[in-house]
Amino acid sequence: MIIRFKPGCRAAELNRIQDKIADLLPGAALALGRGFISVRTCRPELLGERLALIENLPGVHKTELSLKETCPRTLAAPPPELAGLFKKNAAKKFIIIAGPCAIEDEASYLAAAVRLKAAGVGALRAALFKPRTSPYSFQGVGGKGFAIIKKAKSRTGLAAVTEATSETQLADISRFCDVVQIGARNMRNYELLKAAAVSGKPVLLKRAPGATLKEWLLSAEYLIKYGNENIILCERGDSFSKPDPRGLDLKMIRRALTAAALPVIADPSHAAGDNDLVPAQALAAVRAGADGLMLETALNPESAIMDGRQTLTIPAFAGLLKEIRKLR
Ligand code: PEP
Ligand code: MN
Repeated sequence: MIIRFKPGCRAAELNRIQDKIADLLPGAALALGRGFISVRTCRPELLGERLALIENLPGVHKTELSLKETCPRTLAAPPPELAGLFKKNAAKKFIIIAGPCAIEDEASYLAAAVRLKAAGVGALRAALFKPRTSPYSFQGVGGKGFAIIKKAKSRTGLAAVTEATSETQLADISRFCDVVQIGARNMRNYELLKAAAVSGKPVLLKRAPGATLKEWLLSAEYLIKYGNENIILCERGDSFSKPDPRGLDLKMIRRALTAAALPVIADPSHAAGDNDLVPAQALAAVRAGADGLMLETALNPESAIMDGRQTLTIPAFAGLLKEIRKLR
């Protein structure tokens, strides 16, 4: 950590800052520079807890923490145990999660699930609870859809990835599904993160539009601190607004891949907002090194109540898979 002083910080203030750091961060090594002190501690989790008291000290301008000091557990976490969760597919170890934006009705979902299995997906999108900007928009079929997920799983043998929008859904999601998705809107819902951590299921954590790498990994840090290292990060672009999606942040994918050992996948569907643009975004994510993709795919996107515009048909999805295989 670097502690920067205010211009004109007096000697008495400086001494007090040093004494106080020794007090607050026992065992820390301090090195005084021009206008700053650098602090090395082997207990970085104490920094988060005691930072405010350091920042309150007269003479302190600001503190700067490295990513490793901010998210110590996430940066040190080993690759998660996901063996057997995603069916091996034609693109080898690559994670491919596909399915409609939301489960809308049993017949179309089961038919899509069977076709997706044949096309080579690793797991199914299985959304029942949809976080919508407008309360008048389709909210998902809700809890009655768990029976549909059960059927889809038994017909295909595929894992189901289901978004939780509230802590109250987690018991059923853990019972009927295989991966808890934390959507972009809820990346900063810290109570939901804590509850998802203790659900015992792997968590797919989407980056919120505009969130920095640090903020995204801090949400992963919540999951790990509360007991769950089985995390998949998912980049999904920087905009919620349909007419103006800004695409995937490819550099963010690379930065996340190099910062931590967690798998990083990409969701080109929500990033592109238009199925004509999805394949190019998907292939760009693969080239950036992504460990997998989440793709909205349905039997008949034109009749989808949700996100049909950005949903691939099954033949288009199969064609994209072929292109991905060429790159891997
Ligand atoms: C989704 O994947 O179903 C979704 C709602 O996406 P996001 O959270 O990225 O907006
Ligand atoms: Mn969607």
